[in-house]
Amino acid sequence: MRALQLTDDRKIEVREVDGPDAPAPGEVTLRIQAVALNHIDVWGWRGMAFAKRKLPLTVGAEASGVVEAIGPGVSNVLPGQLVSIYGARVCGHCKACREGRDNLCEHVSGVHGFHLDGFAQDRINIPARQLVVAPPGVDAIGAALAPVTFGTVEHMLFDNAKLQPGETILVHAGGSGIGSAAIQLAKKMGCMVITTVGSDEKMEKARALGADHVINYREDRFEGRVRKITKKKGVDVVFEHVGAETWAGSMLSMKRGGRLVTCGSTSGVSTNVNLMMLFQQQLKFFGSFGCRMENMADAMQKMAQGIVHPVIDTIVDFDGIDTALSRMETRQVFGKILLKVDPDL
Ligand SMILES: [Zn+2]
Repeated sequence: MRALQLTDDRKIEVREVDGPDAPAPGEVTLRIQAVALNHIDVWGWRGMAFAKRKLPLTVGAEASGVVEAIGPGVSNVLPGQLVSIYGARVCGHCKACREGRDNLCEHVSGVHGFHLDGFAQDRINIPARQLVVAPPGVDAIGAALAPVTFGTVEHMLFDNAKLQPGETILVHAGGSGIGSAAIQLAKKMGCMVITTVGSDEKMEKARALGADHVINYREDRFEGRVRKITKKKGVDVVFEHVGAETWAGSMLSMKRGGRLVTCGSTSGVSTNVNLMMLFQQQLKFFGSFGCRMENMADAMQKMAQGIVHPVIDTIVDFDGIDTALSRMETRQVFGKILLKVDPDL
């Protein structure tokens, strides 16, 4: 079978590998349907030094699959079902896992596609516990976007920032995968949404997703515009994932007692923090990584009800991976790039 493997920094190739054995107890064999690309794939491709990994590494951290066979003792999924796959290999036994807070697992062995082999391959064996069944009305693309794109955002907005209806939120990079999900989720619950984009062309698309105010950050200082829009009050919540480039401006955009939730830090991981502003303004910061499996289920329910929808930039085959990652690196996308794994998709 085929696997899309990273063999060196910035070198990904399609390789023939052995298919999985029959599923072991508690495991399932999946036929992978679609893989969604994320910034973590760009990091892996660039060869980020902090990742402990062995090459070649099969890429792909976010995906959907169809259950082909189940191992002994599996009861949560059935053959033929479409499932969304949790992206980290968690223990399933620690207190956090037992309480459904898998992204705080004490014995996590890594993130698929980054530390461990990922999902860009025809078939894979995976613990059944890492699977969430897609409800009717959610297709293979939607299920592929539940773990990171929508699940991460559900966790950031609702579990961490505790966003409330009627609040004002600044969503950075509204054209990114998680930005486009955050605009929809916040707007649909009745928030006022301000977002930033990097081109005039993306402004219209962000408005179409429900953003009330769209700022081209290449032309305007976003923090100045945010203060103007909010009549100098600032926003209740900032949805950060850009990091170094936007951090200071994000702090200036927050109202007293405001909350900032961050993941990703795609422009750089280190920044300065004005501690006087932090305590005098009583700002609250939340670091967020991954999601709970319940966030994936919630996200797919909202897709099934038409509350949110996947925003797709392009769908490519395995041979389109280099172009896709380059476009992500240079921020030339609006929404998600997906890899088609099942040829019948
Ligand atoms: Zn655990």
